[in-house]
Amino acid sequence: MQSQIQGIHHITSLASSPAANNRFFTEALGLRRVKTTVNFDAPEVYHLYYGDEIGTPGTVMTYFPRPRSARGKPGVGEVGTVSFVIPVGTSEAWKIRLAEFRVGGITTDTLFGENRVLFGGPDGESFALVEREDTRAPWTGGGVSEDMAIRGFHSASMRLRDGGASAELLRFMGYEAVGSEGATMRFAKSKGNNANHLDIETVAGGKRAKQGAGSVHHIAFSVADAAAQRKVRKALIETGYQVTPQIDRDYFQAIYFRSPGGILFEIATDAPGFDADEDRASLGSALKLPKQHEHLRAELEAELEPLD
Ligand code: ZN
Repeated sequence: MQSQIQGIHHITSLASSPAANNRFFTEALGLRRVKTTVNFDAPEVYHLYYGDEIGTPGTVMTYFPRPRSARGKPGVGEVGTVSFVIPVGTSEAWKIRLAEFRVGGITTDTLFGENRVLFGGPDGESFALVEREDTRAPWTGGGVSEDMAIRGFHSASMRLRDGGASAELLRFMGYEAVGSEGATMRFAKSKGNNANHLDIETVAGGKRAKQGAGSVHHIAFSVADAAAQRKVRKALIETGYQVTPQIDRDYFQAIYFRSPGGILFEIATDAPGFDADEDRASLGSALKLPKQHEHLRAELEAELEPLD
């Protein structure tokens, strides 16, 4: 199992306004919207994917935006901060850029020796840009220059009352504890896809989170293909986890299970990828529906709020 998991695949959150969500990721952060589809389990809600040019696993932030939905209440048992990599020395430029886009809650700090810019998303969600060397080629949307563009995920933090059982799960998934600072314990994959880190943030006695707009819905980890996914599924089941069967999400195969701290984990395959039903040049531009919802197209096109 250790060698099958290659880091973060995607992270999926809840949002309110689809248009505000799209503006924030494509304009302020300069990511590419690589897929415009619907939540396969609730097709009246968009599923928007933002990442690099082709939505390489490890770069993909995704959202279920439900217009006018209430905000979540942060707490324990959920993902706290989602972090992206930016080139070393670009924090100051990002601070200025985010302020120009009237992004809220901009502050800076250092964690594990890396400079970070912290800020809030359109629904108050917690993000960080972290300075780090990274060889991944960036997408340069929204007028972001190549020398400062986001490279993909750096990490996500899991906010938990007690991180013990989750730390054990991460070790089982091939992560190693690489350090701790304050209440944060860092885990890393040595041979991953560059989205290699996860933090456990312990908040003893913290109140449970209430999920709503701005909350992370689940975090997905990458495996190469369905065969690797079957191995991971078997290993998890043998350890006592309740894991869903393999589910076809058109752009990847997914399995889901609940981690000990309550966070929903997914294991997603890298294949077939987001160019399975669109050519690379036009990724994200048309509303794509899975076969099972194609008959709803006219209705959905009329009801889903425009993104631009
Ligand atoms: Zn997912």
